[in-house]
Amino acid sequence: MADRYQRLTARGPGAFVARQLGLPRPEPLERHRPGRPVTAGPVALGGAEGGRVRKPLRAVLDGLGATVTEDGTEEGTGDRPAALVFDATGITDSGRLRELHAYLHPRVRSLAPCGRLVVLGTPPEQAGGVAEAAAQRALEGFTRSAGKELRRGSTAHLLLVGHGAEQALESTVRFVLSARSAYVSGQTLRVTGPAAPDAGPADWERPLDGRVAVVTGASRGIGAVVAQTLARDGAHVVCLDVPQQGAALRGVAQRCAGSALELDVTAADAGAVLAGHLRERHGGVDVVVHNAGVTRDKTLGRMDAGRWDAVMAVNLTSVERLTEALLDGDEPVLRGGGRVVCTSSISGIAGNAGQTNYAASKAGLIGLVQALAPRVAARGVTVNAVAPGFIETQMTAAVPLFLREAGRRMNSLAQGGQPVDVAEAVAYFASPGSSAVSGQVLRVCGQSLLGA
Ligand code: NAD
Repeated sequence: MADRYQRLTARGPGAFVARQLGLPRPEPLERHRPGRPVTAGPVALGGAEGGRVRKPLRAVLDGLGATVTEDGTEEGTGDRPAALVFDATGITDSGRLRELHAYLHPRVRSLAPCGRLVVLGTPPEQAGGVAEAAAQRALEGFTRSAGKELRRGSTAHLLLVGHGAEQALESTVRFVLSARSAYVSGQTLRVTGPAAPDAGPADWERPLDGRVAVVTGASRGIGAVVAQTLARDGAHVVCLDVPQQGAALRGVAQRCAGSALELDVTAADAGAVLAGHLRERHGGVDVVVHNAGVTRDKTLGRMDAGRWDAVMAVNLTSVERLTEALLDGDEPVLRGGGRVVCTSSISGIAGNAGQTNYAASKAGLIGLVQALAPRVAARGVTVNAVAPGFIETQMTAAVPLFLREAGRRMNSLAQGGQPVDVAEAVAYFASPGSSAVSGQVLRVCGQSLLGA
């Protein structure tokens, strides 16, 4: 799945020239394969004095069957750590940030290729005072910078664990430590809700067993892979796309042993049709992935109202309407414990010339996620968004060559992402184990320089 430049610089004369010129040599990233362990090697675990997540974290790591070494015991084992994990929740002032440095400084260069550096902290607004809040906020700058320094496909993650959420870490730890998060780096994830009593799936390889999911825009690109990934995780997937994409849509539905629904999400009755279909055929739905999206790029002065309206209708208004229809009534079609995942974009965070319409629609989705999440929390429903960066699909294949090449390289991993990278992030949000994660926007962008 490597791009041409990546193949050229991987070995032989191409690698030599790239090295001499100081050009990036993108590492082929490890992706998840069913049955593969969460971590490919030992995990080095450390923490500041008084940290509150180290113990539950150790229990999660032991449950995963990981080889864990604590505080220097890894020396002499010969194996490079696949992950360096540091519990920084005990850090209460800026002086004590030194403990983070002291632990990671001697170890960071021994991290194995495609390794993980994971820091756990407290959401600054939950800190005990100003000094602690400042120190905890410092962790974000640290992690973002570490992500930019790491080489050979390794990534950095900050997990902010709310008070009372210490037992709700497993799905997030599994995601960030594993190859499922290959194209996520320099990001902060908040685990702040308590874990639902039945949170952990019986089988982490098939967390969606017995559940029903719907994916819009599923006939190709990211949506097709999201559908296949949720089916891999056990869901029956209702694959939805416009009638013009009918043949491709039926192909995807067949490949994931799901069903196809031809529907234009902008149709006036789309909400009612979808809600009726899901209730009649499946008695409801558990996971809703709003993935359908379009671009109609032009600078603002050249953008006619048609381009503006087309983008807004598909990317934002349809999401509002469909979600409303699925949440409506005393017995909503979206069942308790349900999951809503929107597909935003780093354009919605950073802005992009020629995309005032697209970026506005994608930023609007972030507003929707943040406003809706607390309103549906009482039913155990979570609402999150993925914000892809440059992902190799037909949408980005249409971008002019120079811009396409810039988009691919301007990130810490110096390569474009694959649709499966977005799909794995969606699957993480969709998991019943992720009940404590809501209102989040996760960039899947290899730590793109845009909006970083
Ligand atoms: P794509 O164009 O390959 O697929 C989009 C799908 O949405 C198509 O199958 C299309 O038929 C469907 N769709 C469009 N209008 C629809 C409508 N009215 N009703 C139902 N279905 C409709 O795009 P992609 O690259 O796979 O992108 C998927 C999502 O990810 C989009 O929301 C996009 O904005 C977002 N995204 C993509 C990238 C990237 O780099 N590819 C980056 C950021 C965000």
